[in-house]
Amino acid sequence: MKSKLPNIGATIFTQVSALAVKYNAINLGQGFPDFEPDPVLLDCVQKSIVDTNHQYAPMAGYLPLREILAEHHQLKGENMAECITISAGGTQAIYTAISAFVDQGDEVIVFEPVYDCYIPAIELHGGRPKIVTTYPPFFDINWEEVASAVTESTKMIIINTPNNPSGKMWRKDDFQQLSKIIDGREIMILSDEVYEDIIIDKRIHISPYDIESLRDRTISIHSLGKVLGCTGWKIGYIIANETYTREFRKVHQYNVFCVNSFLQVAMAEYFSRELHVRTSLGHFYTQKYNLLKNTFSESHLKPLKVEGGFFQVFNYEEYSLEDDVNFNEQLIHYVGVAGIPLSAFYPSGAVKNKYIRFCFAKKNETIISAANALDKLLIRMKTI
Ligand code: PMP
Repeated sequence: MKSKLPNIGATIFTQVSALAVKYNAINLGQGFPDFEPDPVLLDCVQKSIVDTNHQYAPMAGYLPLREILAEHHQLKGENMAECITISAGGTQAIYTAISAFVDQGDEVIVFEPVYDCYIPAIELHGGRPKIVTTYPPFFDINWEEVASAVTESTKMIIINTPNNPSGKMWRKDDFQQLSKIIDGREIMILSDEVYEDIIIDKRIHISPYDIESLRDRTISIHSLGKVLGCTGWKIGYIIANETYTREFRKVHQYNVFCVNSFLQVAMAEYFSRELHVRTSLGHFYTQKYNLLKNTFSESHLKPLKVEGGFFQVFNYEEYSLEDDVNFNEQLIHYVGVAGIPLSAFYPSGAVKNKYIRFCFAKKNETIISAANALDKLLIRMKTI
């Protein structure tokens, strides 16, 4: 049988998590919290399941949840909940959006480092990914390169801010540059904003939906699993104009039809009680980020700048000249700490060594234990 995705195997996240279990390593690899969600949210879930919300939810999502989300995003005008469609996490929203809009031969511009689900979805629909690479340590976008990547066949540009893994956030002038390049062309923007509330040091998240010249071309992707620290619940949503929403829903209805009912009801109830929760996430994760930075500061790992998201990329050059996949395996094996090699986000092969990503959405004691384990490596290095 001919595979439709011949080069795809188990993702690096699955491989690293399996190795971390095998060697009993502290897993700072995969991006999920190891702490419990807010007990108030768990109460809402219990109440929701007792209240028998067991049957299909509306196809577009539970209306009170969509209304609260429309209010949160300050969407203006009547019926703004109609711009929101609830999805089974950010991943399904991305896949469905690509499925609804990318046709055979369409080109889709993606930026490296790139989140792993974009390119396979583009290729499955006969699209052609065009990669624009940004490099550590600053991950700045070369706008001339973006301009020359745009052709008559460009259908979509996928952006991710705050970025996983780099932690970089798009600024207003990035959007202005993008706006200039795509002005007068029919190019859509798929804006992956799953880390929108996880911002470090009170930075401001900007969505292309906030920029007038880009709003009508944008489908933004959001994840309540990330926002509420319950990634396994897989609830997300998109925001898009009426035309995009209509096309998105045509695919969505045959893709999942609708999303888990009792969790949508529970989340609506929770947001109606705990309105402030999304705005306090930045402070919460800034403390985690500071703890990681301080406890890891003795090591020879050099942290790169983080603006948003819950990942810290380190340069490990002073520890090892191994490539990043080997270095990560050695860390798991000998130190008992798992990260993710940055090369996993560079399918072009442009970056293969020197950098590793750790997730700091972890209990304080997990971060401190990982730092202690790394210190032991440091002591060993000093005695060699
Ligand atoms: N986009 C990015 C950049 C992510 O990091 C993730 C989750 N790791 C997703 C999308 C998927 O979000 P969800 O878990 O809601 O499917």
